[in-house]
Amino acid sequence: MIVFNVPPYTGKEAEYISQAVAKQKICGDGEFTKKCNQWIEQRTGTGKCLLTTSCTHATELAALLADIRPGDEVIMPSYTFVSTANAFVLRGAVPVFVDIRPDTMNIDETLIEAAITDKTRAIAPVHYAGVACEMDTIMEIARRYNLLVIEDAAQGIMATYKGRPLGAIGDFGAYSFHETKNYSMGEGGALLIHDRKYVEEAEIFREKGTNRSKFFRGQIDKYTWVNFGSSYLPSDMNAAYLWAQLETADAINAHRLELWEQYYAQLQPLQEKGLLELPTVPEGCVHNAHMFYIKTKDLQERSALLAFLKESGILAVFHYIPLHTAPAGRRFGRFHGEDRYTTAESERLARLPMFYKLTSEEVSYITGKVKEFYRL
Ligand SMILES: *Cc1c(COP(=O)(O)O)cnc(C)c1O
Repeated sequence: MIVFNVPPYTGKEAEYISQAVAKQKICGDGEFTKKCNQWIEQRTGTGKCLLTTSCTHATELAALLADIRPGDEVIMPSYTFVSTANAFVLRGAVPVFVDIRPDTMNIDETLIEAAITDKTRAIAPVHYAGVACEMDTIMEIARRYNLLVIEDAAQGIMATYKGRPLGAIGDFGAYSFHETKNYSMGEGGALLIHDRKYVEEAEIFREKGTNRSKFFRGQIDKYTWVNFGSSYLPSDMNAAYLWAQLETADAINAHRLELWEQYYAQLQPLQEKGLLELPTVPEGCVHNAHMFYIKTKDLQERSALLAFLKESGILAVFHYIPLHTAPAGRRFGRFHGEDRYTTAESERLARLPMFYKLTSEEVSYITGKVKEFYRL
C-alpha cells in the first residue's frame, strides 16, 4: 500500500527534543524557536519571523496586525483551505472570492481589481502547490489601492517568485508546518513580517496582549497587559522537531523535486495524447514540489481513477470543495464575478502521493498504474 502522505522525518528530531527537554524549559521562544526564526529570516530576507502554533494562527495574527474590522472585505481565491478565510471572518470581515487561473489553480490576478470596493482592505493570495501567484501584478494593485497583501504561503516555503521567497513578498506571509506539509512540527506555522514597524505589536498579540517579549529581552523590568491578544507561540519541543527538518531542508527539497520531475516525465506522454493535464509552473516561478497533481477530463473520470488506484494499493486524494459553495462560505462571503474555473477545475484535480520518504520505484509504480488506467 502506498499511502498518500508520510510526515517528513530526518532521524534527528528525538535528539533535539531531548536537548530541549534536558533544559527542563520547553515553553515558547526558547533556543530552538529562535533557531527556526533566524533560519527563516536568513532564507527569506523577511523583516521578522515569529514561529506560531499553526499557519491558521499565523494568518489570524496577520489579520490582527492588518487591523481588519467588521464589514471590511478581503479578496482571496475560493479554491483554498478554510483558514485563509476564517482568519478574516473571525475579525468580522467578508471574504470576497474571485476566480482562479486554470493553469496554476491560483487566484486570477487579472480579476482582482474589478472586485475592489471602498471596503476592501487586503488581498490574500494563496500559493497553491508551492507555485507562486502573479505577485508583481498583485503587489502593484495593492499599492495603487492602498491594500495590504497577506500571503497564504502554507504550501510555499522554499519556493520563489522571480527570485523572491514566497511569504516574504507581501506585507505578511504565513507558513504551515503541519505534518502534511514539506517540513513538520506536527502542528505549527510561522508569520513573516515584511515591515519591522509591526514587530512590537505582533509580539504583544502573540503573547496574550502583554509585553512579555520585551520583558524577556530585559527592555522593561515588569510586564503587563497592554492590548488584546491571544497565545500563538509553540512549545520549544515542537520547534526542536522542526529544527531537525529545517537544517536538512535543502536535501528534503531536492529529493521532493526529483520525485516531482519523475512524475512529470513519466506522465508526459498522457498529456501529449490529451488524456490528462499536468501542473504548470510559470516562468520565473521555482516551486518546492509540495504536491503533484493531475487533472482528469471530469469528476466522473476522477472518481474512476481514484478508485482504480485504490484497488492497486495507491491512495490518491482530492481536496478543497470551493469555499463559496460551502455553508460557511455562503454565510460569510461572496463570489465576485463568474465561477468559470474554480468549481470545474477543482472537480478534475487529483493529488498523487508525494512525500519525502517516497521512492523513485514507488513513483514508477504509480505512474505505471495511471497509464494502465488510460490504457497507454
Ligand atoms: C495547510 C494549509 C493551511 C493551514 O495550515 P495549518 O498549519 O494546519 O493551520 C492554510 N492554508 C493552506 C493553503 C494550507 O495548505
